[in-house]
Amino acid sequence: MSPAARTVEHVTCLGCGCACDDITVVVKQDRVAETRNACALGAAWFGDGRIPQDVRVNGRAAPLERALGEAARMLGAAKRPLVYLAADLSCEAQREAVALSDRLGAMLDSITAAAAAGVLAAQRRGRAGATLGEIRQRADVIVFWGVDPVARYPRFATRYAVEPRGLEAPRGRGSRTVIAVDVGAGRGPADADARVEIAGGDEVDALGVMRATVQGRVASDEARFRGSAELAGRMSQGRYVALVADGEPGAAPADPDRAEALVTLAQALNAPTRCALIVLRGGGNRSGADAVLTWQTGFPFAVDFAPGFPTYRPHAGAAALLAAREIDAALVIGSPASIPAPLIGGLAGLPTVAIGPRASAAAFKPAVSVDTGIAGIHEGGTAYRMDEVPLPLRPALAGPPTAAGTLRALRERLGA
Ligand code: SF4
Repeated sequence: MSPAARTVEHVTCLGCGCACDDITVVVKQDRVAETRNACALGAAWFGDGRIPQDVRVNGRAAPLERALGEAARMLGAAKRPLVYLAADLSCEAQREAVALSDRLGAMLDSITAAAAAGVLAAQRRGRAGATLGEIRQRADVIVFWGVDPVARYPRFATRYAVEPRGLEAPRGRGSRTVIAVDVGAGRGPADADARVEIAGGDEVDALGVMRATVQGRVASDEARFRGSAELAGRMSQGRYVALVADGEPGAAPADPDRAEALVTLAQALNAPTRCALIVLRGGGNRSGADAVLTWQTGFPFAVDFAPGFPTYRPHAGAAALLAAREIDAALVIGSPASIPAPLIGGLAGLPTVAIGPRASAAAFKPAVSVDTGIAGIHEGGTAYRMDEVPLPLRPALAGPPTAAGTLRALRERLGA
């Protein structure tokens, strides 16, 4: 290693919801030169650590003080403001966003709204879950439901479920049975021990047949559900089953009843055996936003402060209000690149303030933008893994002003 290089160990990667905290970052000349242990997705997320550090008002460079003053004026004058949480924020910044929303009487929503079906199903029915550590130690049957984690959650299989040795899986992969369920175009891992194929349109019915089979009720004898019924029998005989599904939106929209059908199947399996539903979540501390909003307001997303107290509006959040043109100003916090495309269109015609990593490059052309560091690369604090385990962030680089500090300064400007 060159004398100018330094290493930072135990860095947490937020490239996906696995939040691997075993990354060693090598820094040379204030740039990330190497990310040991990171997968290709993680290495791309770190990049070389360089990030814009601009502050702009109406497209022109401006001092931070002026930008904050303009942002406070714009947001303070709004009758129906929106505060929107995107990715790459620490929990500390998310907490500041809650306080700001309270001060503004705003609708507070986040990118979790795109994964709302699973959250709402868990709220309605209760989810039988487990930490990834428990799965690693105990799961002997792992069913990947229409997902191969290798693409979006690359180290899931090597760090958590499948390969590692565990208390009840002393031979690692050799102690576990991996079953891939191919649902329409969503295929499970190629190297699974067994495969079951389900047509995309049959998914919810197949889950219903599986639940009926587990519960010993009369199951369908239709040929198209035979594989699902056999799978249910096999899962019932496992010692500890992990049912793994993707919680993030895919290329094709999922059946709205799918999330609830998965939740209830996992519940039913807890009669004959133990089953945990593992919902894969994306990176950038998405799960942290749910946790912070829940502990601060009681609700994980779409929290409306307009009535003067936190009110849950899961079906009338940012997307619905923007589509109905009810919002008259917006504060977007976090990486604008993570915002779903339909929302970008709604934000484009509004007076907006953007505070976050690469805010100055936001496609919706904010009136005020303040570039901040990326949580986990330039900013410390806390982030949540997909299984809601909090982890410390160890930034390897210094960067522009922090998102949490900038939001606090804005809140002070607003008199809070
Ligand atoms: S699996 Fe996810 S969290 Fe782990 S190194 Fe890869 S991108 Fe980062």
